[in-house]
Amino acid sequence: MFDNLSLKLEKAFQTLKGQGQITEINVASTVKEIRKALIDADVNFKVAKEVTDDIKEKALGQNVLTSISPGQLLIKITNDELTDLMGGVSEDINIQGNPAIILIAGLQGSGKTTFSGKLASYLKRQGRSVLLVACDIYRPAAIDQLKVLGQQVGVEVFAQPENKDAVKIAKAALEHAKTINSKIIIVDTAGRLAVDEEMMDEIARLKEALNPSETLFVVDSMTGQDAVNTAKAFNDRLNFNGVVLTKLDGDSRGGAALSIRRVVEKPIKFISTGEKMEALDRFYPDRMASRILGMGDVVSLVERAQQAYDEDEAKRLSKKIRKNQFDFNDFLQQLEQIKKMGNMKDLLGMIPGMGKAMKGIDIDDNSFKPIEAIIRSMTMEERQNPDIINGGRKNRIAKGSGRTIQEVNNLLKQFADMRKLMKTMNKMGGGKRALSALN
Ligand code: GDP
Repeated sequence: MFDNLSLKLEKAFQTLKGQGQITEINVASTVKEIRKALIDADVNFKVAKEVTDDIKEKALGQNVLTSISPGQLLIKITNDELTDLMGGVSEDINIQGNPAIILIAGLQGSGKTTFSGKLASYLKRQGRSVLLVACDIYRPAAIDQLKVLGQQVGVEVFAQPENKDAVKIAKAALEHAKTINSKIIIVDTAGRLAVDEEMMDEIARLKEALNPSETLFVVDSMTGQDAVNTAKAFNDRLNFNGVVLTKLDGDSRGGAALSIRRVVEKPIKFISTGEKMEALDRFYPDRMASRILGMGDVVSLVERAQQAYDEDEAKRLSKKIRKNQFDFNDFLQQLEQIKKMGNMKDLLGMIPGMGKAMKGIDIDDNSFKPIEAIIRSMTMEERQNPDIINGGRKNRIAKGSGRTIQEVNNLLKQFADMRKLMKTMNKMGGGKRALSALN
């Protein structure tokens, strides 16, 4: 996400390297580079100009501070400006009414159904009871897709495949929600490939009939400037409450994230960064600005970890580490937990400086496959007590997993080192202190 933009901005700031102070001339050339970088990232031209004019004005208006270099100062100003551009503060989803109704709108393929499933899972994790409603009356496959997602996240899906009236389906769903005491209903609607009157009429009728507390517009961020135009068309007709940007994990250049708020004047509320049900984050303008400027987003990383991590499992694990009993079964489970958090490259991109270091490197869930294969080829006894793995056993494990002896040796060595480290930490008491936080 935003790899190219981050690199270009960094280059822009480098033009100020070695400069003792901000001058009309050096700021002008840096700002020109920033504007170019934004336009290349598909930011609307007018928006890019407004932002960079503001940056220039603020930079020149600053009192000269000797403790801060012009480069640092400009990064700070750009950070503030990008945060402001994306809305300044994070806005939460509006959940009101009994049941509260959330209407999901957008073009076909934008990621509406996937997002509906993710949102259901997100709200369920907050302890709320949710009902998903399939209101796509044109594509039976969309109903099945929602049912699969519902099953995956453990949320009931209401559908009436034979009913061809979206408003009637939604009203029946509302009644059903009351009988099963569901507090929130999420209505997934039909989309078209392009904005068309019939679709707009239908979704507008749904909105009028349901009076939802939240109407979210879902848009594919990879469509760049088009995303902004589509958002405008939907907003003119629907007056939605917030935007959901999807596919920010792909090759999206990020322009939509940066321009939509300013052009449509509606907040971005969520970003979706993958096909996994956990790959959904609430949108925070300041964190996103920090990511764009290559400063990472550790806060979101920790939040994602907390979501994926089972607390009981964490306690069980900390006990095992304290007793020096951490084994290959635990290791395998850790890998599963990490995979649940989402795309690896995306996660690593949240660590400061890592996004840049990872450019061009392909890391995905398959990167764990060799390790998993080796561990799965071990017997239970071997996993619990790796010390018994002798030459013969190594041979068998290598054969069974289709990996080389060298790879088996490497994993055993790394695991032994890890256990040694845990032991040392336990002896020093530091580990105990850190781990006791989990208890
Ligand atoms: P809908 O027609 O608007 O309901 O769109 P879908 O939910 O069916 O999504 C269209 C395609 O985009 C599917 O293949 C999804 O798996 C994929 N998709 C949805 N959200 C994301 C995302 O955040 N990242 C990526 N990489 N793919 C996504």
